[in-house]
Amino acid sequence: MIANVIVDVPAQQIDRTFDYEIPPRFEQVVQPGVRVAVPFGPRKVQGFVVSLSETSQFDRLKPISDVFDIKPVLTSELLELGDWLSVTTLCFKVTALQAMLPAALRAKYEKTLSLSDSIDKETLSPEVRQLFSRQNVVRWDELQKSAHEQLLKDIQRHIKNHQIVVNEHVGSKATMKKVRVVEKAVSDETLKETLENWGNTAKKQREVLEYVFHYSEVIVVSELVRICETSSSVVKALVDKGLLHEKVVEQKRDPFEGRSFGQTEPMALTSEQQQVMTSILRDVQKETHRTFLLRGVTGSGKTEVYLQAIEAVLQKGKEAIVLVPEISLTPQMVTRFKERFGSDVAVLHSGLSQGEKFDEWRKIRDQEVNVAVGARSAIFAPFTRLGMVIIDEEHETSYKQEEMPRYHARDVAIARGKYHKCPVVLGSATPSLESYARAQKGVYESLEMAERVNNIAMPSVHIVDMREELRSGNRSMFSNDLIEGMKTRIERGEQTVLFLNRRGYSTFVMCRDCGHVVQCPHCDISLTYHRSTGSLDCHYCGYRERVPNTCPSCESEAIRFFGSGTQKVEEALNDVLPEARVIRMDVDTTKRKGAHEKLLNAFGRGDGDILLGTQMIAKGLDFPNVTLVGILAADTMLHLPDFRATERTFQLLTQVSGRAGRHEKEGEVVVQTYDPEHYSIQLMQNHDFVSFFQREMLTRKRGQYPPYMFLTVITVSDTELMKVAQTTDRIAQFLKERLQEPSVVLGPVASPIPRINDRYRHQCVIKYKHEPKLTSFLQDILSMYQTEMTRTDLTITIDQNPYMMM
Ligand code: ADP
Ligand code: ZN
Ligand code: ZN
Repeated sequence: MIANVIVDVPAQQIDRTFDYEIPPRFEQVVQPGVRVAVPFGPRKVQGFVVSLSETSQFDRLKPISDVFDIKPVLTSELLELGDWLSVTTLCFKVTALQAMLPAALRAKYEKTLSLSDSIDKETLSPEVRQLFSRQNVVRWDELQKSAHEQLLKDIQRHIKNHQIVVNEHVGSKATMKKVRVVEKAVSDETLKETLENWGNTAKKQREVLEYVFHYSEVIVVSELVRICETSSSVVKALVDKGLLHEKVVEQKRDPFEGRSFGQTEPMALTSEQQQVMTSILRDVQKETHRTFLLRGVTGSGKTEVYLQAIEAVLQKGKEAIVLVPEISLTPQMVTRFKERFGSDVAVLHSGLSQGEKFDEWRKIRDQEVNVAVGARSAIFAPFTRLGMVIIDEEHETSYKQEEMPRYHARDVAIARGKYHKCPVVLGSATPSLESYARAQKGVYESLEMAERVNNIAMPSVHIVDMREELRSGNRSMFSNDLIEGMKTRIERGEQTVLFLNRRGYSTFVMCRDCGHVVQCPHCDISLTYHRSTGSLDCHYCGYRERVPNTCPSCESEAIRFFGSGTQKVEEALNDVLPEARVIRMDVDTTKRKGAHEKLLNAFGRGDGDILLGTQMIAKGLDFPNVTLVGILAADTMLHLPDFRATERTFQLLTQVSGRAGRHEKEGEVVVQTYDPEHYSIQLMQNHDFVSFFQREMLTRKRGQYPPYMFLTVITVSDTELMKVAQTTDRIAQFLKERLQEPSVVLGPVASPIPRINDRYRHQCVIKYKHEPKLTSFLQDILSMYQTEMTRTDLTITIDQNPYMMM
C-alpha cells in the first residue's frame, strides 16, 4: 500500500501530497489522519497521511520512517475540511491541518502501550506475551525502533482488537495524573456467597465489599474510602484476601476537578423560546442543514434555548459544538453547561494548560463526551456524528483568526453543518451587519426573541453629556448621576458594574508643553504606560522602556501619562466613594490561574459593591443583585480608523447594559459620553437594533463597505521601505489589470500602522461584489513572490474578509 502524505514544509511548490511506501511493519497503523515522519530530500520531516492508494505513478518510493499516532488525529471529514480551508483562506494545506489540532500535538508527546485490563493473556501472541512479562508499560518510540516486523504487526493487531491499550502522555511525567482504583476480583456469584457467609468480624470490610458489589465499575480507592467512611487499610485487606483487584491507572486531567456541579432541569419555555425551539428542532429531526440567526435581546433566554436544543440533539445520539467568545467563556457560562450535561461536556479554552486542553480534546476524539464548549478553535472538535453547531455572540470579531489560516469560525461552522446535514444556530442580541443582512435576504433563517424572560423590563438607559459635566465644574471622571447612582446602590445593598472601555483609549505618555508622544522606536505606535511595572510597553513588539522624567523632545518636565486605566479609575473611586468595596478585574488582577473565577465568585457572594473592569466583564455575567451599570467613555471606539467602529460601539454598549436588572430588581444604565448625539449611542438607549441596522447600512452603502461589497486586504512588509513600496505597487497594478467593474483596488498606501518591529508595511485593499477568479489571481500573486519570500525578509499576507483594519 501507498500513503499519500502532506509534508510539513510550508512552501507553495510542496503544497500537495507526496507518495510514500508503507513498510509492512506499519501496515496496520498507517491510515488517513495519522502523522508520520518521512524522508524529504536530505532530511526527515513530519507529515499527515491524508489517503491511501494501491498504486503510484512514481516507481521508486521512499518508505515512511516513523509513525507518530496510533489513533488518527484527524477524521476524514476534517481532512476534507483542510482542503477547503486552504483554498478559501489561501494557506498551505499543512497549515490548515495543523490549525485543527490542539497545540500539545504540535509538540512531541509520548505514547505507551499496556495490556487491556480484561485481557486473557493466552490470546496474545507468544512474543507479545513475553514483551509484557518483562514490563507493564512499553514505550512506543523505543519499540518502533527495536522491534522486528512480526512483533510490530502483532501489536498493531492487538491494538485493533482492544487487547492492547494506547496511552498518550503530554508534558512531564510529574503532571501526569495516576490514581489507584479497585474492582471486583471474583465473579458476582462468589462475591454474593462470600457476603452471605461473612459472619460477625471485620464489619467495615463487609460494608466496603457490599458497596463494590452493587457498584459494578472500577472505583477510585480514595473515593471508596470517603464514601464508606473508612480507611485505605480496609480496602487493602480486601485486596489481600483476593476479593478486590487493585491497579494504578492514568486519569485524564479534569480542569473542574474538586468542583461539584449541581444538576439543573430544563425550564418550561416561554412562548418565544418555544417558537424558536420548534423551528430549530424541525431541522434536527429532518436532519437537514440550515443556518439560523437568533436575535434575542439580552436576558431573553438564549442560553436556555441552546441547552434544550442540545438536549434534543443528544437524544438523537448526536453531538453538539457550542462556540462562545473566549472573553465570555466565564466560569458562570461553563457552569450552566456542566450543570445540565455533567461529564458529557468537554470545555476548550485558553485558560487551560496544554495538557488539560489535550485531555479535553481527547475526550471528544475518544467519544467520551458529546458536547464541546469552547472558543474559536473548538469549531474543529473531531466529532463524527455532529448534530448541531451553536455560535453564541455571533457578532464577536474574535471568531475570526488573525493569523494563518485566517478563517472565520462561522464559515467553518456552516461548512461542517452542510457536511453533517445539521443546523447551525447563530445567536446574538446585536448580530453582525453581515449576518443580519443575510437573514433579511433569506440566506439565513431569521428567529427572534424580543422580550426578556418573566416580563422583566429592559434597563432604562440614561445618557450623560460629559462636556456639560465639565462646564458645570465637575472635573472628575464620574458624572454626578453616576456617583449618586452608586451611592444609592450601596445604601440599598445592591451592586454596580462599572465598565471602562479601554479600546481606543490609550494610556500614552504625552508632553503637555510640546505635545510630544513617546513612541516605540521599532513600530510607529505610541507606547502604553503600565503602572505595575512603571514602564512604557509596545503592544506590538514587546519593546519596553522606563517612563522618562523629562520630555525627550523639549526637555520639559511636564510629561505625564494620559488616559485612564482601571487602576486610575479605582483610585478615583476611592476618593469619591471611600466606603465602596471595589473589585477590579483586568489583565493585571486576573493573571493567575483561577483568579478570574475567584473575583467573580466574591462579587456574586456580595463581597463587593462595585465590579470594575474592561471588556472582560462586558458579557455573559448574570448577577441578580446588579441594578446599575455605569459605562465610562462610551464613545472612545467611535473614532478608530475602522469601518466597523460604529457597529462595535453599539454592540458593546448593548452587551454591557444587558448586565443590569436581569432578575426581579429593575436595572438602570448610565452612559457617559462626549458624543451624546451619535446615532449608535442614541439608538442603544432604546435598545433599537433594527433602526441601528437600517441607519448603519446606509453608511455602509455610501462607503461601499461590507455587507454591500466584499473586502480583501493585501499587506506587504519588509525591512526595506523601497522594496515594500515597489512590491505593493506591482501587486496593485497586477490586480487592476485583471479585475472587472465594479471591483476597485484601493492603494497602495502605507498601512494604518506603517511600521511594526522595524518592518515597513504597505497595503492595498480590494473591494468587490462578484469576482469569481479573485482566488486564483491571489494565488498567482503568492506564487510570483514565493521564491523571494523564502529567500528574503519579504512577507505578503492576504486577508479575505478582514476584521482588523489596522
Ligand atoms: P440570554 O442568554 O439571552 O442573555 P439567559 O439564557 O442567560 O439569556 O436567560 C436570562 C435569565 O433567565 C437566566 O437567569 C435564565 O436562567 C432565566 N431563564 C431563561 N429561560 C427561562 C425560562 N424559560 N423560565 C424561567 N427562567 C428562564
Ligand atoms: Zn516636550
Ligand atoms: Zn514596538
